[in-house]
Amino acid sequence: ETKTTRPFVRVREIHFFEEHTCQVDEAAATGRVAANLAAFARMAAAFGLPFLAIRRPEWDKFAGAYYSVALDIPIGAGRTLQIGSVHHYRENFARPYGIRFEAADGSTRYVHQTTFGLSERLLGAVLAVHGDDRGAVFPRALAPFEVVIVPIPSAAAGDLPQRTAAEVARRLEAAGRRVRLDDGPGRPGAKYYHWELLGAPLRLEIGAREAAAQQLAAVDRLGQRTVLPLGELESAVDRALDAFDRALAERAAASFRAAFSIATALADLAGSATVRQIGWCGREACGHRIEQAIDGALLGVPEGAPPVDGGAPAACIACGTTDGIRWALAGRPL
Ligand SMILES: [Zn+2]
Repeated sequence: ETKTTRPFVRVREIHFFEEHTCQVDEAAATGRVAANLAAFARMAAAFGLPFLAIRRPEWDKFAGAYYSVALDIPIGAGRTLQIGSVHHYRENFARPYGIRFEAADGSTRYVHQTTFGLSERLLGAVLAVHGDDRGAVFPRALAPFEVVIVPIPSAAAGDLPQRTAAEVARRLEAAGRRVRLDDGPGRPGAKYYHWELLGAPLRLEIGAREAAAQQLAAVDRLGQRTVLPLGELESAVDRALDAFDRALAERAAASFRAAFSIATALADLAGSATVRQIGWCGREACGHRIEQAIDGALLGVPEGAPPVDGGAPAACIACGTTDGIRWALAGRPL
């Protein structure tokens, strides 16, 4: 049992969300792994979270797996957070446990198993990647409230701001948006601070001036400020939310690109402030030398293109051979 806990990252109880499948053969199981990775890619895109699928080295794969692909997210300072994994087991568990099926041709065969698991670390990654000094920043797909509406009371305008705000909330709810009308006591500035802390993507401010002009001020969680006409409220809010999601994803993509750099000598790995992309021959002895040099882990070989476009690797960073050379990633997992 762990004694030192960190919210979402190192906890006493881990809630996993897992899929376990039995497939008819190895190719079908390989197809299932690809489908799992594609499903995760769609979800990560909706959250604006760039990630890497990395095939773990033999000594770090799930015990008994044929291979393990980890879903890793760089979170700055050369650190990575593993938020899920996909395992291909071939018949490794089916044989000892006798898990068989009758095939179409009447023969009895062992199944090929896969698992796909995610944990609530995904939320930790969202907070680490998108959050800032003012608090959480949630993409619209994850935000409990996409839109927060704050009327600004004014003695001269009577209850016009409040009435307009209530009407705006009603219309946006009817359009399917998740809306919170914050018309309770408290100064508007304190409410802005509160909803920024909680990561609400879009805030609508309605004062006497806005209500009289049939418009409202919109401020997204990245500080982008626009004026929306009340007449086109629903479509204008959707456009503002989409623009916010795009800006958030672009900001995360820029941080992601900056999170990796190529290293060509073991001596360069000490104190790395980025995740290092390195040539590796695939041998375990070299892998352990790399891990020692970076004081972390050889994360493995990326599935698909490596994060830094550096052509082909020249040689193994540890032994200098060009035999079996491939790009690998080394970092310090949190
Ligand atoms: Zn080597």
